[in-house]
Amino acid sequence: MNPSITDVDAATLAAWLAQRGEPAYRLKQIRRAIAHSTAADFGGLTDLPLGLRGALAEAFRWSSVELATEVASADGETRKVLLRLHDGHHIESVLMPHHGERNSVCISTQAGCPMACAFCATGEMGLIRDLTRGEIVDQVRYWQRELRSRDDRVSHVVYMGMGEPLNNYGPVMGSVRALTDPELFGISPRRITISTCGIVPKIDALAEEGLPIDLAVSLHAANDRTRAMIMPVNRKWGVDDVLDASARYVEKTKRRLTFEYILLKGVNDSVADAERLGRRIAARGRTSMYHVNLIPVNAGPGGFERPSAEAMELFARTLESHRIAATVRISKGQDIAAGCGQLKVPEGRAAVPL
Ligand code: SAH
Repeated sequence: MNPSITDVDAATLAAWLAQRGEPAYRLKQIRRAIAHSTAADFGGLTDLPLGLRGALAEAFRWSSVELATEVASADGETRKVLLRLHDGHHIESVLMPHHGERNSVCISTQAGCPMACAFCATGEMGLIRDLTRGEIVDQVRYWQRELRSRDDRVSHVVYMGMGEPLNNYGPVMGSVRALTDPELFGISPRRITISTCGIVPKIDALAEEGLPIDLAVSLHAANDRTRAMIMPVNRKWGVDDVLDASARYVEKTKRRLTFEYILLKGVNDSVADAERLGRRIAARGRTSMYHVNLIPVNAGPGGFERPSAEAMELFARTLESHRIAATVRISKGQDIAAGCGQLKVPEGRAAVPL
């Protein structure tokens, strides 16, 4: 099967064009069109000579994802698509427009996820496979194409869909480079957020990339016993390991870092939990570099419940007493199962070959 054009790097495409005797400027033209054209296939790139369009279509696939279904939230903004991959597996991506000011896209990095967090629907699927760079980029491209036809664009990208981004490091970094490349999507790295459950060596690797992207770390508990119970990854890298790696990331990149903390009633939501969390983060110094996002748990596996509004407020205030900024954030699109941790492809749909 031909490679998808988004899985072909610039040097390979340049060599392919040279071999056909095409002028060098075609490279820039084609790459721009890949990112921004509203065309449905190579045939729609009418700025290119007909012969070249045909040759491109013979050598490459225009996209590595194909729309299966789309659902829109009653909030009138959030939309979720189920996308089919070439081998019949499916992934989900979410568009979260924000009052006409920004268009955030939430993308998947794996079909399924191997991390098995107790509260997360994707974790119930297990890992089906890693996505390629093109399959990651094509999710952004799907929404970009759609927004572009209304004179709008994708402004922010969050790697918070299905999968653990740092477990698929190479393709994920390749996709970040494509999204930030001024000749492709040209999205500012400051508007890209990667979220991880705490793969410590890869957090260190990311710090070395020299890319000013945002990092979010899913912490969800401040002591190892509770964290290991809800996040199996904690048996490999404990709370201290994750907090130390986070501190090194902040030190190296000078970027602020977000801790994601799902509030689970009776599990991790007590004032004592907040005290411990505040103390442990503050012990690393530079408290102004951290922010805690408190997320009332969305409906999902494990039968977890949300604490009361008062308990969540008290948790946030307790963190603030340790000089750690904290906000309670309710995720959007829950009526269409598009909230954090709700992305899951129904069994049986996952492996229907084309
Ligand atoms: N694997 C990465 C990327 C997924 S991001 C990570 O763990 O960070 C998805 C975010 O939603 C994570 O912070 C995850 O812990 C959170 N999440 C999972 N299930 C959830 C649920 N039921 N309610 C609220 N947030 C949830």
